[in-house]
Amino acid sequence: PLAWAFGALGTHDRARHLATLYLNDLADVIRDAVDGRFEFVRYAESLASSQPSFDPLAQALAAPPTLIDEYLRELTLEAVERHQPSLVLLSVPFPGAVYAALRMGQTIKAAHPDVRIALGGGFVNTELRELDEPRVFDFVDYVTLDGGERPVLSLIEHLRGQRGPQRLCRTFVREEGRVRYVNLAEPDIPFEDIGTPTWDGLPIERYLSLLDMLNPMHRLWSDGRWNKLTIAHGCYWKKCSFCDVGLDYIGRYETASARTLVDRIERIVEETGQTGFHFVDEAAPPKALKALAEELLRRGLTISWWGNIRFEKTFTPELAELLAHSGCIAMSGGLEVASDRLLALMKKGVSVEQVARVTRGFTDAGILVHAYLMYGFPTQTLQDTVDALEYVRQLFENSCIQSGFFHRFSCTVHSPVGQNPAEYGIELIPLPKDARFAKNDIGFVDPTPMPPGVDHDLLGQGLRKAIYNYMHGLCVEDDVRRWFEHLPCPVPRPTVKRHRIARALA
Ligand code: SF4
Repeated sequence: PLAWAFGALGTHDRARHLATLYLNDLADVIRDAVDGRFEFVRYAESLASSQPSFDPLAQALAAPPTLIDEYLRELTLEAVERHQPSLVLLSVPFPGAVYAALRMGQTIKAAHPDVRIALGGGFVNTELRELDEPRVFDFVDYVTLDGGERPVLSLIEHLRGQRGPQRLCRTFVREEGRVRYVNLAEPDIPFEDIGTPTWDGLPIERYLSLLDMLNPMHRLWSDGRWNKLTIAHGCYWKKCSFCDVGLDYIGRYETASARTLVDRIERIVEETGQTGFHFVDEAAPPKALKALAEELLRRGLTISWWGNIRFEKTFTPELAELLAHSGCIAMSGGLEVASDRLLALMKKGVSVEQVARVTRGFTDAGILVHAYLMYGFPTQTLQDTVDALEYVRQLFENSCIQSGFFHRFSCTVHSPVGQNPAEYGIELIPLPKDARFAKNDIGFVDPTPMPPGVDHDLLGQGLRKAIYNYMHGLCVEDDVRRWFEHLPCPVPRPTVKRHRIARALA
């Protein structure tokens, strides 16, 4: 039944897709029989995500190890045996990596009490900024914030006896049973001088290539291996009201010259033998991408690359062509809620029609486009949601985008919405007073009226079903109200004209 999706030449892809489905079944078996928290891309996520209290994690870490914990323990001990480190750095990008990282810390501390352990990474940088939980230090010795280079260099000097404990940089420690934040303000290492990432020692050939979605853009995330690199540090726009614009990873914007970036690319190709690159900026700056493309072409370097951008009008069809010539195969970017009123409230700095023109320029240049979509933003009504889906439908119909994903809006404490809720017409639900561990998402009350029995979760079900079908090229011409038939109320007609995007592109 999958023949339509792969065509006559797609035997390899078809096998990979079926193997992925088989692996997903195996994951179900592991979840049912071995460890209910198991998932391939995250593990025990709910124990850490926006958890004001460390209690759930502490209890899980004190429980007898599951089979998965045992495997992790063996792998950890093997790695320590092989490398004989005196300092171990654990990077936790997401809440779904925290439990395993702390289990590793626990294992190392029990078997090698002299080894020092530091925790850092995206989860720490967003959620543990106000850490006040001494029990975390039963598993690690240091917790560092933001760009890790300066804190880690300071820590190494400290461990070598060249720097006192008061002169650490952006580092939490436990002293006499209490958490203390030490921050000797020192300039960060400029992005230009940060060096080239290395994967030395990682068994990159053993990572799985999964193909769970047949959509060609969507599969880029899990199928095949991409060297990860950033074009800049932080975001050049840093205005979107739902984004952590005040935090270092967004707010500190620094660039490097195209020459430096292409030097890094050459070095990475040499090390890994792989020529695929994923530029993992939150929003890569158009000027820097243009310079990079020109430098790649000047050196005659053949790579394939994709990245994340803001769909701003600087990305003209000519620039899209240039990027495609330099190896760009795909772009992703935020359209968020496809509504000019809400885009303005978000300070996204784009309009729906502008996004249509920019994305169509990419498609015409042979570049696939993925849109990050959002629902449940403050003041978003049922009518807004229906209209936004109508826009999205038209963007698929007019070959502007080939892929998309709907995220439910969540308010974070560090975003402009979380900082000034009244400006967005919402009221925050106070966090527990004794919150000592993670702090990120915060609940809120949005008084915007909805029909009885309807909420954003219910609308989200319809949105996800719609996008899944659109990505497979199905039902794109249908009235969008069909995706909301499960609502216990009449669904309003879209107020967006059916050919609005086609007209904007004409
Ligand atoms: S959402 Fe993207 S474009 Fe907007 S400020 Fe954040 S990183 Fe920048």
